[in-house]
Amino acid sequence: MEDFYRKADKLNAVGQLAAGLAHEIRNPLTSLRGFLQIMQSGQVNKEEYFDIMLSEIDRINSIVNEFLVIAKPYQSKFQKNDLIRILQGVVTLLEAQAALNNIKIMTEVEECFPCVECSEMEIKQVFVNILKNAIEAMPSGGVIRISACVQEGNALIRFIDQGVGISENQFHRLGEPFFTTKEKGTGLGLMMCYKIIGDHKGGINIHSVVHEGTTFDITLPLQE
Ligand code: ADP
Ligand code: MG
Repeated sequence: MEDFYRKADKLNAVGQLAAGLAHEIRNPLTSLRGFLQIMQSGQVNKEEYFDIMLSEIDRINSIVNEFLVIAKPYQSKFQKNDLIRILQGVVTLLEAQAALNNIKIMTEVEECFPCVECSEMEIKQVFVNILKNAIEAMPSGGVIRISACVQEGNALIRFIDQGVGISENQFHRLGEPFFTTKEKGTGLGLMMCYKIIGDHKGGINIHSVVHEGTTFDITLPLQE
């Protein structure tokens, strides 16, 4: 929680965020415009530009999508949910992508897991982003271990990867908008996670060793 507010504080002004957003969207737009102009002049083989243009459009789309979660145009619906079902759905969703990267996902879940008061859609987004980050951190494959247990009145969901890890320099920037080390990253995923888990009065704890891997702990409070 405190961590979340520290991060939220960093965002400081809404203006800073908006400026970043404008910048991130303007880049692919400028590139799209350039390609359209070249095509209009009729001097090129259009086909080869389509892929780049499509990926630039996808990029704008994912930036806007991640921002929508933060802006929250809808009322999030909190209700008792089976966290394990949500988790397993996310694993199924990303299993193919993991397999393509020689990654095996292993899940270990405590029996009779209690239901958790949460927004299913939002928690799903958190799990997707954390699992995707884990996959993206393991370019040469390996194992991702996911476990769920009850600890001190909280549901604890733990994601352990064998990825590249996070250096000390990068560590304190996690959750900062647009902070990414990836060529095609948006740097918005973790900010979204902090916001959502903060709204749920839960916590995110990260432990990482460079070249060894990273552990993400998500805690969500259980009602008595
Ligand atoms: P994106 O995935 O678009 O880069 P995120 O906010 O999801 O944005 O993540 C921000 C950065 O945090 C990543 O670019 C990466 O450097 C680092 N990161 C997040 N998760 C992991 C992980 N499991 N292993 C290594 N680095 C990670
Ligand atoms: Mg991400």
